[in-house]
Amino acid sequence: MKNNIGKLKDCYGCGVCTAVCPVKIINLKENAGGFYSPQISNEEKCINCELCLKVCAFNHKELSLQNAIPKSYAGYSKNDIIRQRCSSGGVGFEIARFLIEKGYKACGVRYDISNERAEHFIASSVEEYTPSIGSKYIQSFSQTAFSEISRKEKYFVSGTPCQIDSFRRYIRHLKIEDNFILLDFFCHGVPSMLLWRDYLHNVEKEIGKAGFVSWRNKTNGWHDSWNMNVDPVESNDIDWHNSYNINILEKKHFYQSRWKGGDLFYKFFLSNYCLNKCCYKSCKYKCFLSSADIRIGDLWGKTFKDENLGTNAVIVFTENGAKILEQLKQCNLSPIATNTCVEGQMKKCPSLPLIYRHLLKALGKDEPLQKTFNHIVKPYRLLTIPKRIMNLISYKLGIKLISH
Ligand SMILES: Cc1cc2nc3c(=O)[nH]c(=O)nc-3n(C[C@H](O)[C@H](O)[C@H](O)COP(=O)(O)OP(=O)(O)OC[C@H]3O[C@@H](n4cnc5c(N)ncnc54)[C@H](O)[C@@H]3O)c2cc1C
Ligand code: SF4
Ligand code: SF4
Ligand code: SF4
Repeated sequence: MKNNIGKLKDCYGCGVCTAVCPVKIINLKENAGGFYSPQISNEEKCINCELCLKVCAFNHKELSLQNAIPKSYAGYSKNDIIRQRCSSGGVGFEIARFLIEKGYKACGVRYDISNERAEHFIASSVEEYTPSIGSKYIQSFSQTAFSEISRKEKYFVSGTPCQIDSFRRYIRHLKIEDNFILLDFFCHGVPSMLLWRDYLHNVEKEIGKAGFVSWRNKTNGWHDSWNMNVDPVESNDIDWHNSYNINILEKKHFYQSRWKGGDLFYKFFLSNYCLNKCCYKSCKYKCFLSSADIRIGDLWGKTFKDENLGTNAVIVFTENGAKILEQLKQCNLSPIATNTCVEGQMKKCPSLPLIYRHLLKALGKDEPLQKTFNHIVKPYRLLTIPKRIMNLISYKLGIKLISH
């Protein structure tokens, strides 16, 4: 039996093992639950080098970055259009822009309309990097972009904390760590692609084939930016330099806020009914636990409740990260206390809901999502009312904060 990642179950699906394997026999494939998972195409070709296990964050208890002393800031881009278009304050985009202008390539996540998925991609110019703007609240397919990383270039790479933790192990193994600046974010988790496609196909029955998708839109302000937007326009029709304003194209537009009646995608995602299994059991990246140079997030919580343009929590872990923030004249950054920085964030992993397996079996069949919600989630929600009331009280009292 070969000693490779084939022995791991319910891993992060970060895709880094696909890039390191010298004989290229590992591929990221979607599993039955709708999550990316590495699969070995030809076990016989495995040369037992164990590199896949060496770079895998799931295979190690400790983080690849140790003993970091984090410093926290509140920040936002001084450019109002960038701030308006980004999910929080636009600091993530500004760091990428600053580094691209210094000759780095940037590896971030865009939404691919034809494959109905989020994916990592590599950009060489600020223009090319603009589709990374905005959070795509689904798991990204990283294999292609991570495999294209060259030893000779400098890169800015952003991703979920688990992707970044494996990625640091990878560049350390290649002895090219100094060429990289790594950015992650506070991470709620990633929902199943089965949920995403059911949701999207339900919407497409109303508006026709989607051409553009956005998970957040600040038309009603940052605190009310939780709304799904699906438009039957090509992304080429979108002026990335202006604020999100597709309504004026007078095409059928899907807009559903998380508030006021609620949006089904957000009901499933934010209530943690169908996240990746590892997001319940094996996530070791909450709050200040990171292997990135810099972490960003939404600065929710009492301190910034009247701020409505979008403000990032920014945490710096390394000297390289600190040097970048010192030079980042495009952003306003002010030091904040560590507890302010994590206000409103998930402090620990959610519990696996009892309906988990049943729900994943029901998803992915293009059934009306409302029906799946009514049949499976609603009865479960009734059962969990007491627990949810307790959580709400403790949230209000600030004892145990629940993430957004
Ligand atoms: C799945 C997911 C869960 C998150 N959970 C939280 C949370 O619990 N708390 C919190 O404060 N913030 C969370 N965030 C981050 C937050 O939504 C904002 O992305 C972040 O605050 C950065 O915003 P920005 O304004 O600086 O820049 P933006 O330009 O809006 O940030 C987008 C950045 O995220 C990257 N990105 C987008 N989608 C993905 C993806 N699917 N996988 C990997 N990278 C991606 C892009 O490459 C880009 O670098 C989450 C983001 C994602 C994608
Ligand atoms: S490197 Fe990533 S995708 Fe590969 S086994 Fe580990 S966690 Fe899974
Ligand atoms: S042990 Fe080496 S050859 Fe085998 S799958 Fe892992 S990286 Fe590839
Ligand atoms: S919650 Fe943790 S395990 Fe899940 S995607 Fe985010 S960082 Fe990875």
